[in-house]
Amino acid sequence: MEVSKEIKVVKNYKGALSHNIFRIISQASEELELESYVIGGYVRDHILKRGAPKDIDIVAVGSGIELAKKVAEILPHKPKVQVFKNYGTAMLRAYEMEIEFVGARKESYRKDSRNPIVEDGSLDDDQNRRDFTINALALGLNENNFGNLLDPFDGIEDLDSKIIKTPLDPDLTYSDDPLRMLRAIRFATQLNFKIEKESLNSITRNKSRIKIISKERITEELHKIMLAEKPSKGFSLLHKTGLLAIVLPELTDLEGIDEIEGQKHKDNFWHTLEVVDNISKNTDDLWLRWAALLHDIGKAPTKKFHKKIGWTFHGHEFVGAKMVYKLFKRLRLPLNEKMKYVQKLVLMSSRPIAIVDNDVTDSAVRRLIFDAGEDIEDLMTLCEADITTKNPNRFKKYHNNFKVVRTKMKEVEERDHVRQFQPPVSGEEIMETFNIKPSREIGIIKETIKEAILEGEIPNEHQAARELMLKKGKELGLEVKVKL
Ligand code: ATP
Ligand code: MG
Repeated sequence: MEVSKEIKVVKNYKGALSHNIFRIISQASEELELESYVIGGYVRDHILKRGAPKDIDIVAVGSGIELAKKVAEILPHKPKVQVFKNYGTAMLRAYEMEIEFVGARKESYRKDSRNPIVEDGSLDDDQNRRDFTINALALGLNENNFGNLLDPFDGIEDLDSKIIKTPLDPDLTYSDDPLRMLRAIRFATQLNFKIEKESLNSITRNKSRIKIISKERITEELHKIMLAEKPSKGFSLLHKTGLLAIVLPELTDLEGIDEIEGQKHKDNFWHTLEVVDNISKNTDDLWLRWAALLHDIGKAPTKKFHKKIGWTFHGHEFVGAKMVYKLFKRLRLPLNEKMKYVQKLVLMSSRPIAIVDNDVTDSAVRRLIFDAGEDIEDLMTLCEADITTKNPNRFKKYHNNFKVVRTKMKEVEERDHVRQFQPPVSGEEIMETFNIKPSREIGIIKETIKEAILEGEIPNEHQAARELMLKKGKELGLEVKVKL
């Protein structure tokens, strides 16, 4: 069909549309006699060569839902079309991608909601409602404009100079949908782009509008920032614009260096960001990265100055672990084993350091492995990331100390298997031996055996443990049942 409007063709990007799906969407558009475009993330990421796309967004000038249905009809595997009638959108899965269809639309916003009033519109209207110039790029999918780029806001130029910029007045764009403030910072972090000055000022001005955004949306963006190569970029932007103090005040509370009588402590906020960047070089695990971000949050409420010893943060690990629960609850992060894992790492975050401060004894290492269990490797990764000293000698010394701990961990674990500790003598065996019912004594005997193993007084073996059981039983006045 003839594409009606006059368009400014900057360049043709047929190469971006070599996937079969685009031919099929093109065919469906011709059959329905409507215009369609691929828009947003797919186009951006293709030009940035960001690897295989997970989703594709299609705009139809007309009904997106009808187009989705037509595409599904043509596709050999006849996928199911999920229709979201309220939003006028539809989604289908093909070639391991999610393809979203939407009718071109015009949006107007009210003050108290990020849900706009929507009406049908032109492609222009649709590009105007996009968040950033680099996300408004569209490629034609009809026969006579296949691969033609429509770039009304010079998004290509911004891709080139790595700039995040809104298509319209930033105050309008951010105030209309404040989630875009987080998206700006997230894209700047993921793509290593700069947010244009006007935009950054506008985010700062509009920061309190973030309060109308649901916690789930906020954490979704925080997760994406967290999973970037250098999360500190995002967190310092959040900090600079004042958003962090609204979203994660526990972190901004860590900022600052106090000095009394010439004694200073380090700035725990900037230290934390370094730790997160460090750990991100060694793990892609989202929750381990969260543990790094939160490992010192207990330091703000526990900070004290003592004339003799200077600054202390006594019990900050325990207080921090409790704060993790509150923070997860407030942000609607999962309150399941993920939260418990983060709490555990925060709680134990000083343990490996405490070991290397003294002589690294077998029993200290054994206790560490016992308490950390399956998470011991992650805990070590966190502690190594925690080394942010700028003194090269100290840096080397700390890392070497942790190497010693790791070697010792291996030796001890091979010998004593305390990582997944199973008591070598069971409660049943104790009851059977002394002919007793469930009672306090059983707990005492089990605890004695566990302690002896962790202290290295007996090996983690049944025979040795049984002997200790008999000895302890005798001390407790228990008699061995005589077998007849
Ligand atoms: P990614 O999928 O990597 O997060 P994306 O750019 O594809 O990046 P999506 O959230 O999938 O982001 O959204 C697809 C497109 O929809 C964006 O490119 C943008 O054009 C538009 N968009 C998404 N969210 C908004 C928003 N809050 N305001 C304006 N436009 C948006
Ligand atoms: Mg996308």
